[in-house]
Amino acid sequence: MKIGIDAGGTLIKVVTELNNERTYQKWLATDIDQVADWLNQLDDVEVSITGGKAQYLDSCIKHQAKRSIEFDATYKGIQIFLKENNIDLETYIFSNVGTGTSIHYATTDHQERAGGTGAGGGMIQGLSYLLTQISDYDELVQTALNGDRDKIDLKVKHIYKGDNTPISGELTAANFGHVLQHMNDAFPNADRLAAVMGIVGETVTTVSIHAARQYNTENVVFIGSSFVKNELLKNIVVDYTILRGLKPYFIENGEFSGALGSIYC
Ligand code: ADP
Repeated sequence: MKIGIDAGGTLIKVVTELNNERTYQKWLATDIDQVADWLNQLDDVEVSITGGKAQYLDSCIKHQAKRSIEFDATYKGIQIFLKENNIDLETYIFSNVGTGTSIHYATTDHQERAGGTGAGGGMIQGLSYLLTQISDYDELVQTALNGDRDKIDLKVKHIYKGDNTPISGELTAANFGHVLQHMNDAFPNADRLAAVMGIVGETVTTVSIHAARQYNTENVVFIGSSFVKNELLKNIVVDYTILRGLKPYFIENGEFSGALGSIYC
């Protein structure tokens, strides 16, 4: 049995392969010692580890683990998933929206890091908690779905007030920039959380688009657990990428790219 592990800042992703069957599992990073206990109960396994907490996990297990560089493992995993999904891309940007966001340029034979931003899944969780006191992940992504950003985010059309706009009036001019014009209104948690998804989704997309322009590609592959169950974030990223003239791609189980790729690095 082969086990590939991406021990990340928030979640530990585990891919197991046995007889051409693949399984996917996740643990909270805070439960890393439980992952080590589970691994230590297994014999005859080939363990591969990548990610920021790889060193620690490696030090807790009895197996001689293979270690790989996270960016290369992620690229390898994406290439495998793209092939399995019959998505044929010569060049693309991949944006890994994990706790933070890391952005890479990829061709058919290599990847290079193109940039990143601190806006990502960690910001979603932290800012959401500050604004709503909701810390449960499922609750916050569900609540955000019913939100309305109109009183929180300032759009270009709000500034131009009916005049012709030089760019689409629907674009966000200032995330959270409409709040002070609605000081006497209530801001339900759903609206606050939708605005959090807005700032993270738009920031991640903007940085990805700049990278795509810089490397002259039109394809952007988005991965990372931040999109898991988070339909609103996904929609914001898809709509904004298309609006800016590029092609967004999401791959099923994309957040396991690093774990899968570590097996084949
Ligand atoms: P990392 O490798 O840095 O841990 P991930 O790609 O696993 O990054 O993404 C982490 C993000 O995924 C979190 O910040 C959060 O927004 C989101 N997430 C998805 N599912 C969960 C969950 N069950 N618990 C906590 N965060 C989750």
